[in-house]
Amino acid sequence: MQNPSGIPTLDALADAIAARLSGRVSLGPTGEPEARIPLDLEIRPQNDDPLRDLRAGSRVEIAGMEFTQSIQYNGSTGASHGDDNAVSLVAYKTMVARVYPFVRRGMLGADTLTGQRVTGELIFSIGNRVIYQTGPTRSDGARIGSTSDLDRGLWDQEFTFSGGGGGLVVRPSTTLINVNCPLNFIVPAYYCRRGRIHITVRLWPVTDGVMSGRSATATQYLQFIDVPAPKVCLVRVNWTDNAGNVNKPTDAAMLATLGLAERMLPFPYFESTILTAEITSSAAFAMVSPEPGGCNNAWLSLVTELNMTRIFTALFQLGDIVYGMVPQAAIPAGSEKINSGCGRGAGGGFVGLDSTFAHEIGHLYDRSHVAVPGDTTNDLGYPNYGGSARSIGEVGIDTGTSPPTLFDPSSSDDIMSYGKNQWISPYTYQNIFDRRGTYQSEPINPRLLRPLLVLDVRIYRAVRNTTRVEIRKSVCIEAAGMVPPRPVGAFSPLSLDLLDGNGQVLATHHCTWAPAHGGGQCGCSGGSVPLEREPWLDFQEVVDWPAGVASIAFHRGEEALHTISVGEPPLVSIEGPKRSETHLMVRVSASHPRERVSVVVLFSADDGVTWQPVAFDPSNGEVTIEADRLPGGNRCIFRAIGTAELQSATAVTQPFDLQRTPRQLYLTLPSNKCVIAPGPVALAVMVDTRGLGAIQPQEIRWSSSLDGELGFGYALTPHLSEGRHEVIATAPDGLGGVLSKRAIIIVGGRRSQ
Ligand SMILES: [Zn+2]
Repeated sequence: MQNPSGIPTLDALADAIAARLSGRVSLGPTGEPEARIPLDLEIRPQNDDPLRDLRAGSRVEIAGMEFTQSIQYNGSTGASHGDDNAVSLVAYKTMVARVYPFVRRGMLGADTLTGQRVTGELIFSIGNRVIYQTGPTRSDGARIGSTSDLDRGLWDQEFTFSGGGGGLVVRPSTTLINVNCPLNFIVPAYYCRRGRIHITVRLWPVTDGVMSGRSATATQYLQFIDVPAPKVCLVRVNWTDNAGNVNKPTDAAMLATLGLAERMLPFPYFESTILTAEITSSAAFAMVSPEPGGCNNAWLSLVTELNMTRIFTALFQLGDIVYGMVPQAAIPAGSEKINSGCGRGAGGGFVGLDSTFAHEIGHLYDRSHVAVPGDTTNDLGYPNYGGSARSIGEVGIDTGTSPPTLFDPSSSDDIMSYGKNQWISPYTYQNIFDRRGTYQSEPINPRLLRPLLVLDVRIYRAVRNTTRVEIRKSVCIEAAGMVPPRPVGAFSPLSLDLLDGNGQVLATHHCTWAPAHGGGQCGCSGGSVPLEREPWLDFQEVVDWPAGVASIAFHRGEEALHTISVGEPPLVSIEGPKRSETHLMVRVSASHPRERVSVVVLFSADDGVTWQPVAFDPSNGEVTIEADRLPGGNRCIFRAIGTAELQSATAVTQPFDLQRTPRQLYLTLPSNKCVIAPGPVALAVMVDTRGLGAIQPQEIRWSSSLDGELGFGYALTPHLSEGRHEVIATAPDGLGGVLSKRAIIIVGGRRSQ
């Protein structure tokens, strides 16, 4: 909060500010059909009588309303860096209306209201239909005074200080300084429906009751914009320590890592799927990167591998955001600075470091670093809001805690910085919002296949004018989906020509490379290394493969560096699956007289219509999978594709029957270890879709053993009555049944002030 002694409390100044601010609230748009307001609601007449204030006594006024889901501009209590409420509102995302009340003095300065409490109600309506109605988060309302007493950085708390100089005047030490907060109304995500919604807020003094003649009303239209839920595929990284212990992150911990980003970023929720394909590693992920803002080799090689996975999840339309999750066991005890994650197309980070996930998602939506010392890729367009160059500029809010957490711009840094107490600025939020369609390719017919060559290529730095090109993986495949978009800052230092039998160019493909962005508290500094001095560059490419290709030639605009001719396909076979109680095992053999064979193993639950990758280059040809990680069906198939010399061979298993597994639900609730204060309680659910598609918000239903039906949606903030609640969330399981999850929460005791 602000320094209370810096708040001017001179009545004259307060009134001047009040007069300036009172014109801010729209009393209904012009030229638009008015939504019909419920008849039982008393509406203050339009302010058409300029002398009314002088004739009447003091009454409640509204200095402004702030509509925030994560971050917002609002000048109701002082300077703001944009037009009020200019940050876009996202449909099906929890919204908080923060309403700033003050006392309008009556005739001859009469004031019988300052220091009293006001309460009120909020109504959401579409046309003449009320869709939601609620009271403020605090049942006893908020203390009211002048506009200069209002502090946007306070949540349901008031303060009174005595004495103190400073500010505009030196006050006698007996002066009392009041700091008041706005009235907060939480609108659950489910009611923030797409399109235009009319909002009415009415405030009145608690002592007068709802029929008060000293009340204030403000109305406005809000526009909620449909933002598709990003499809996020999570890859479990099983990390082996020096003693050989394997640390496997749990599904619940991996999904919980997404929660913060879901609330902070301009998305309603994530359509998250934990992939069957897992990665095993013992690399030193925590080690600080030698490059400012960069990634260490452990992350770089993980992200390279995940970029191959991402090509397949995009081609098979499972999702084109792929994120690897490494258990925190990989962070050595006592580490002060770590490289907490990395993004370059695909991303990766430690499980439980939820701000790292939000940061990497920011990179995937074209956000560069903000004021990372020594980083040449910093976003030079980041606004300086005053104070720290990393400041979020406005007051942020996390609606997922009970009570919500506010982020003060004087002590909160943008998520794309390496700063402390991270939240998101209006700049970063709106930029991600504006790119919300980046990963939303239209669904296409999975049967419309086209031939593609998927390549993982490493090009080494030239030594004595010889550049070595290493084909690390190659897969000739037919697929229907789209190629994942190229990362921000991508450029093309390498191309490849597809040549026919006469050496004529049939097509040219430009490979792209982009710098990797690290996450973490890296305090190192230094310059950036020119590309020519990197030991190697890695490319993961999808090349359209026309008929008649006889060879491919890699070049950098001059003579070919490396040429590969189409040769002979490998021999590939697949055996299995063998079943154990919980696992399926298939064995793949692949051989070629001259080349190492790249192998990818795919799984289909629908007789080969749709596929998902389950393993790349399995060691010893063995692939073992937990059966309940696969979608299941009565015609399941494993397919192995082996590629060598730009030719592939395929082997498939006989179709087999596999029990179908439903989606999985995980509840995010306040801990039941301590009693929760009465008031709104933040409930949320995370879903592993298991490839069965997203659950719509209206399909998730919440109830309580004490309070009955609570509402719908991925996140909900009901006012729970005191006592022990069994909270139940239900949702369709994707197979025609219903999933149900329960948890106990205890509400009671005295509110901690
Ligand atoms: Zn980064």
